[in-house]
Amino acid sequence: MNYDTIIVGGGIAGLTAGAYLARAGKEVLLLEKNSICGGLVNTIEHNGFSFDAGLKALEDAGIIKTMLHDLGIELPFYPNPVSIGIEDTIIALTERESIETYKNLLIKYYPESVNEINRLIPIVEKFSKYVDTLYAVENPEFKDLKNDRDFIFTKLLPWLPKFLYTLNSINKLMMPVESYLQKFITNRSLLDMIAQHFFRDMPAFFALGYFSLYLNYFYPAGGTGMLAKVLEDTMRSHGGEIQYNTKITRVYPGIKKIYDETNAEYGYNTLIWASDLKTFYAHLLDNNLDKQTLRALRKKQQEILLSRGGDSVFELFLEVDEPPETFKAITTGHLLYAPSRKGLGDVHKGELETILAQGNSITKEIVMDWLERFLALNTYEISIPVLKDPKMAPSGKTGIVVNFFIAYDIFNVVQQAGWYDEFRERIERGVIEVLSKSIFPMLKEKCKHYFSYTPLSIKNWAGTSEGAITGWSFSNAKPAVSNMLQVNKSVQTPFCDIFQAGQWTYSPSGVPMAILTGKIASRMILNHN
Ligand SMILES: Cc1cc2nc3c(=O)[nH]c(=O)nc-3n(C[C@H](O)[C@H](O)[C@H](O)COP(=O)(O)OP(=O)(O)OC[C@H]3O[C@@H](n4cnc5c(N)ncnc54)[C@H](O)[C@@H]3O)c2cc1C
Repeated sequence: MNYDTIIVGGGIAGLTAGAYLARAGKEVLLLEKNSICGGLVNTIEHNGFSFDAGLKALEDAGIIKTMLHDLGIELPFYPNPVSIGIEDTIIALTERESIETYKNLLIKYYPESVNEINRLIPIVEKFSKYVDTLYAVENPEFKDLKNDRDFIFTKLLPWLPKFLYTLNSINKLMMPVESYLQKFITNRSLLDMIAQHFFRDMPAFFALGYFSLYLNYFYPAGGTGMLAKVLEDTMRSHGGEIQYNTKITRVYPGIKKIYDETNAEYGYNTLIWASDLKTFYAHLLDNNLDKQTLRALRKKQQEILLSRGGDSVFELFLEVDEPPETFKAITTGHLLYAPSRKGLGDVHKGELETILAQGNSITKEIVMDWLERFLALNTYEISIPVLKDPKMAPSGKTGIVVNFFIAYDIFNVVQQAGWYDEFRERIERGVIEVLSKSIFPMLKEKCKHYFSYTPLSIKNWAGTSEGAITGWSFSNAKPAVSNMLQVNKSVQTPFCDIFQAGQWTYSPSGVPMAILTGKIASRMILNHN
């Protein structure tokens, strides 16, 4: 089989590229290792409940709605109001002024730090404005710049100077959010409460500008997985082919062929690798390459293979025999909740590192003791789909997804030690216990069934190194482009006929960047031919 373009990976990046290439009339084949597409954007059905198994809501970033419009896709959305809670106080973020309510929430729990909080709030406002500016216009990648003069003259050109000014400002704010906050917050618990639901070492501007993103979250009818579904349908409707249950295990750039697990061969003119880059560079075979390409490949391979995936999560899916109204009286459908004002302190860092350093001599007792404190002091992202779209649960019942960051390495160690299932069950029961004692007192009694995904299951599902959910770790040098002005470069590889797309190609990443890089890769291929 020989195709104009083959795409490896049916996540949101691969599907975007596939939809655009098929629309342009290319003979395109997408190969996906799972029986369904979507990757980390997926809504699953279980016992009549619909759960978002990956991200819980969408942020537009000038990309998602523009792309849907450009592709002629209609996808109905619901609002996705976000709440923040500490112990028994939950506040909803409904408008800009909610920042004042957030400030009062922090002052309520940390009255001794009122001056520090008063310093923080204007910074959050400033960073949120930066984020507003960055995403103020539709991303030009999805616009017809040759013909849409109205967009160019009334939107793009007036916005450009503000965009460049903002880029310049945020480039000075790339330091990890915790280090940034430490410059003026001395109260460790307060600092944890502000930062512990963000990725480790996330750039300060990105984390503290999230307030703006929370206000703009939206939710596709039928769940976040619908975004993948409509792209998949669009690709097919334009004649693109999708082949499931096909895992690519070997890539021969020198002869323009790839092979799957069963040894089936696929020939391409151009290839887009839209999944994990460590896998790609580990699977490359260098037969028939010229010396220059080989040198560039070795350099890239070393950079990529020595880097680490970023944060991973544990996801708990709860099927609760309690009507949505009970939960609606407590929170909106998307909540960031800390059951204790104390914060994690050193529990998820130094303490965990000490435990992991014990390697094979690690004991169950030590890990379980650590786990109890970790669960009691953590922040949880809680999503209740039925509060956003009433069709997401059986009548009179409520499905809840609880997720939180947890180190991939601890699951690896525990699996090797032979008590992975026990550890996983302890986490499931521990989270239900913590939430029953705090925000959802009825949970323990009314939760009739539950199941979970660990960083290891997420790794197996999406083939993502270290179970990472948004690409490279922020803690080390990243082998990816991090500058919006160089975003075109993010899709390039050492080979002129192979492009890369998705969360591993740009940092910081997520769904909007996966879509953008998928689109750019498709444009480069269309220009290439
Ligand atoms: C719990 C959770 C919360 C999140 N929250 C947010 C959020 O709030 N905002 C945000 O922007 N992002 C969020 N994300 C991240 C976002 O979902 C991802 O960054 C994005 O979906 C990545 O898309 P992708 O196409 O690059 O990769 P993936 O979704 O990883 O897709 C890769 C695809 O390739 C397939 N594949 C892998 N290896 C092979 C192979 N060898 N052969 C064939 N196929 C292969 C996989 O099965 C998968 O379908 C979240 C993710 C999770 C899990």
